[in-house]
Amino acid sequence: MSDASSSGSLVVVGLGPGDPRLITPEVSDALAGATDLIGYGPYIARVPDRPGLEKHGSDNREEIDRARHALTLASAGRRVVVVSSGDPGVFAMAAAVFEAVEHGDPAWRALDLRVLPGVTAMTAAAARVGAPLGHDFCAINLSDNLKPWALVEKRLKLAAEADFVIALYNPVSKARPHQLGQALDILRPLRPPSTPVIFATAVNALQERIDTVPLADAVASRADMRTLVIVGSSQTRLISRERGSAFVYTPRSAPAETTS
Ligand code: SAH
Repeated sequence: MSDASSSGSLVVVGLGPGDPRLITPEVSDALAGATDLIGYGPYIARVPDRPGLEKHGSDNREEIDRARHALTLASAGRRVVVVSSGDPGVFAMAAAVFEAVEHGDPAWRALDLRVLPGVTAMTAAAARVGAPLGHDFCAINLSDNLKPWALVEKRLKLAAEADFVIALYNPVSKARPHQLGQALDILRPLRPPSTPVIFATAVNALQERIDTVPLADAVASRADMRTLVIVGSSQTRLISRERGSAFVYTPRSAPAETTS
């Protein structure tokens, strides 16, 4: 056994989209060795309690404070694991930890600090319906908590113009009920009305619900905070089936005319 008082560490992990089977063995090992868990309350709750594990749950909007708390505990010799859902590097805690390191106590740079990947919502949702991310794609966070909405609009327009498949994280929140509707209004004139749009809610959790609709029929109210939206490119298509919902995929090659 290593002595926690002399060798603190900080590991930033992703718990995947919901199903415990999508937690990687590497992340399970880190959780098993932790003295302290830090993260948003509902994510912390996904890790079973055990003797010797102290849980520090917090509100979802306090990422920087949470990161500083984690770094402070690790500096004091604790084995700290910071948990995110999905992948910790995708719109989650890993970047907050590095922001805190960049601007914080120089001693934090010498810590044993690692990031362990997880299954992100985008790939989990894609796998449920087929292979919509089979060709070039991008991911856009619709939250404008940390960036101006005008920048989101610019990125949506340019991504549509470049014919990327677009994954939309954080499509709505109580504070931002209108943004997905605005995003769909930006995309509608730039994509064929038949373009498949996937609404994937609570993927790999008990409440999972996945719907694929044509862009012309996509309604923002279908999404909630646990929804990942994938808007197809001009090439994304459906393979209908007699039984079960259609497969959705984007072919690996793109025709020359999509460059015009
Ligand atoms: N780090 C996370 C993303 C955090 S941002 C990841 O890699 O998945 C939070 C957003 O992620 C949500 O608003 C939603 O758009 C998406 N999301 C997270 N888990 C999800 C799930 N199980 N099903 C669908 N979308 C999910």
